[in-house]
Amino acid sequence: SEARVEEIHLPPTASHAQLQWDEQGQPLSTLFDDVYFSKESGLEETRWVFLHHNRLAERLSELSPGDSFVVGETGFGSGLNFLAAWECWQNHAPADAHLHFVSVEKYPLPKKDLFKACALWPELSEFSQVLIQHYPRYLAKGFHRLNLSDCHRSVTLTLIVDDAISGLKALLANEHPAFIGPFAGRAVDAWFLDGFAPAKNPQMWQPELFSTLASLSHSGTTLATFTAAGVVKRGLADAGFTLKKVPGFGRKREMLTAFMTEPPARPAAETFKQAAYSSANPIPWMDLDKTSTEHLSTSQYAAPKDCTVAIIGAGLAGATTARALAERGFNVDVFEQHAAPGAEASGNPQGVLYTKPSHKEETLAQFNTQALQFAERFYTPFWADTQQYFGERCGVLHLAHSDKLHQLYEQVAAYYGSHQDLLEWVDANQASRIAGIPLEHAALYFPYAGWLSPPRLCESLLCHPNIRTRYSQNIRSIQRLETKEKSNHTHHWQIVDKLTNPIATAAIVVVATANQTPFFPFAADLPLKPIRGQVSMANASPTSAALKTVLCGDGYIAPAQSINASGQHTDAIDSIHCLGATFDLKSTDPQVRPEDHQRNWDNLHTSSPELAESLTCNGEGRVAFRCTTPDYLPLVGPAPISDEFKTRFALMSKNARAEIPLTGAYYPGLFMNVGHGSRGLAYTPICAELIAAYINGEPNPIGKPTSDALHPARFLIRDIKRRKS
Ligand code: SAM
Repeated sequence: SEARVEEIHLPPTASHAQLQWDEQGQPLSTLFDDVYFSKESGLEETRWVFLHHNRLAERLSELSPGDSFVVGETGFGSGLNFLAAWECWQNHAPADAHLHFVSVEKYPLPKKDLFKACALWPELSEFSQVLIQHYPRYLAKGFHRLNLSDCHRSVTLTLIVDDAISGLKALLANEHPAFIGPFAGRAVDAWFLDGFAPAKNPQMWQPELFSTLASLSHSGTTLATFTAAGVVKRGLADAGFTLKKVPGFGRKREMLTAFMTEPPARPAAETFKQAAYSSANPIPWMDLDKTSTEHLSTSQYAAPKDCTVAIIGAGLAGATTARALAERGFNVDVFEQHAAPGAEASGNPQGVLYTKPSHKEETLAQFNTQALQFAERFYTPFWADTQQYFGERCGVLHLAHSDKLHQLYEQVAAYYGSHQDLLEWVDANQASRIAGIPLEHAALYFPYAGWLSPPRLCESLLCHPNIRTRYSQNIRSIQRLETKEKSNHTHHWQIVDKLTNPIATAAIVVVATANQTPFFPFAADLPLKPIRGQVSMANASPTSAALKTVLCGDGYIAPAQSINASGQHTDAIDSIHCLGATFDLKSTDPQVRPEDHQRNWDNLHTSSPELAESLTCNGEGRVAFRCTTPDYLPLVGPAPISDEFKTRFALMSKNARAEIPLTGAYYPGLFMNVGHGSRGLAYTPICAELIAAYINGEPNPIGKPTSDALHPARFLIRDIKRRKS
C-alpha cells in the first residue's frame, strides 16, 4: 500500500558553502578564499555592477502590465544581488508584471548563514524576510521554485543548486522544437555574471559557460560582470557577445558589460539526428543541442494573455493548473463532469501531504523532494487560514512497522543527517510523544507536512476572478479547428459534451481528467492505470481524540475532524477520522465494500493496535481510483500525436542517420496533467507550475532532466525503442 518501499536511491546532495565571518560580520568563502561582496559596500557594488550596467531600472519602467522580465545569475550566494534586483523591480516595474530571477549556485548557503548575511542589509529587510521564509529547508541538488509575492505573484526565484554550466543547461527544456511557437521556452533578458574571481574559481569561467549564456540569450540580452579578466573577455566575445570595458566599483579599475546582437544559430531546424538517439542520450526529442529555435524576444514566447484556456477536470490537477494560469492573467474555463470540484480521487475528506523515499530511479527521488518542498510552501497560506479550515500542518510520522522499513528509514535519516527541517528519525518514545498516543514503532518524522481536505482546496483554488467553472459538463471529445486567414494559420479547440454538442472553444486545452483521459482518442495509447482505493470513516474515540499527527503505515490516519465523507464540515457533535486507503490493482468495483473497511482496520492495527481497537467504522466510506503510470511519475506537458511519433521514429530502424522532423508531432495548444497516483497533494502544485511555464513561456521550474522524465511522450518513445530492440 502507500508505504510500500523496496530499495532506496536518494536525491543527490549539494555541498553547502563553507563560510568564515570577519570582524565586520562579512562572509568569506573558505573554499575559494574570496569575499562574497565588496567590503566597502556590497549593496552599492551590486547596484553599480549588475543593476546599473544592465540598465535595469530603465528597462523595468518600460514594461507594460502583464509583461515579464527574466534575470539570470551565476552564483546566488547570499542573495544580495537578487534582493537588490527585487527592490529595483518594486520601484520601477508596473503592477501585474512578473520578474523571473533564475540563479545557479553550486554551494548554497544554509538558512542560518543566509539569515546572518541578510542582516547586513537592513534596508532590504522587506525582501530578505520573505526570502528567508521561503528559502528551501533542504537544499537538494536541482531546481527550487520559489513564488515570492502573494498578491500578484510578481517575483519568482528559480534557484538552481548545481554547477553553473550544467545548471543553466537544465533551463533549456522548454526549447524543444516541438514547442516552438507561442508556447516555447524563453530567453534571459539580463545576466548578472557573478561568481568568485576567475583566478580563484577557474572551473566556473569555462568556454562552455559562456556558450550556454549565449544560447540562453536573445538579441538585446545584456550582461554585466564585476571582472574584466582576459579569460572572461575572450570567452564572452567568442560566444558572440559584444563587450565594453567600463569603470568598476570601488577599488576595481574595470568591469565588463556586454550585449547580444545576434545569438548563435542552432543546427538543422526542427530535426534531430539518430546520433542523438543512443543510450548516452536516451531522450533525443528533448536534446537542446540538436534543436533549433529562433531566438525570439521574451514576449513572443508566451501565449497571448487574452486567449482562453480550457481545463477539463476540477480535481487537484485541474484546480491547481487553473489557479496557476489565472494568476498569470489567463482567462480559464474549467469543465467538470460532477456537480462540484474534487469529486473523484481528490474527493477524500482528508488527504496526506507526503512522498516517500523513492524505491526507483534517482529522478523520482529528486522529484519527490522538489515537489514536497514546493507543496509545503504552496499550502502554507491554506494551513494558516483562520477563516476557512483546510486541514492542519500537524506533521506526518512514517512508521517503521517492519524490519525492512526500519532499516530503510534509518538509512534515509542518516542520509538527510543534519537536515532535520525536512525529516528526522525518531524512536518509538519520541514518536509517541509527537503523536500523543503510544506507538511501538520508530518513525521518519516530517514535521512540516500534514493533512488537507482536497475537495475544499479545489473549491478555494478555483475561486478566482479569472476562472469560470462549468460543472455537470461531461466532456467527451475535443476537436481541433483550423482557420486560415491570409497567410496566418490559427487553430483552436472545440470542447464537445457527451451529447456531441460543442459547448465552448479555447486556444489552449489542459486535460486533467486522471483515469478518464484515455477515453479521449488522442490519449488512448497512454499507459494510465487505475488503482482502486477505499477509505473508511470512524467516529473519534477518547483514545483517538488524543492523536496529534498523521500516522502513515500500511495505510494512514489523520487527527479527527468534523467533516463528512464528501469533505464538507458537518454539524455532527462527534469528529470523524478518515482511514485509508486500500490499494487494489485489479478491482474496478466502485462500491464501498465491508471487507475493505476491515483491511483498513487491519492496516491501522499494524500501526497502532490501541487506535484500531478504540475505533469502529461508522459505516461510511468512499471509493476512488488513483491514476498511476508505469514509472509512478505523473504525465505532465504537451500532448504528443501518437501516430506521428510512431511513423517518424520508425524511420530510424531503416536509416540510422535519418533526420526526424518534429514539427507537427504535438497537438498545438494541447497539454495534459495526469497520473499523480496517491501523491496528488504533493505533486499537483509543482506540476501546475510546469504547465503554466510551458504555456506562459517561463523558465522551466523543475529542470530539464525532471521535465523530460514527466513528459507525456516518454512511453511512446520507450515502446518504439523496445520494439526496435
Ligand atoms: N551573487 C552573490 C550574492 O549576491 O551574494 C555573491 C556571489 S559570490 C561572489 C560567488 C558565488 O558563486 C558563491 O556563492 C559560490 O558558491 C558560487 N559559485 C562558485 N563556483 C560556482 C560554480 N561553478 N557554479 C555555480 N556557482 C558557483
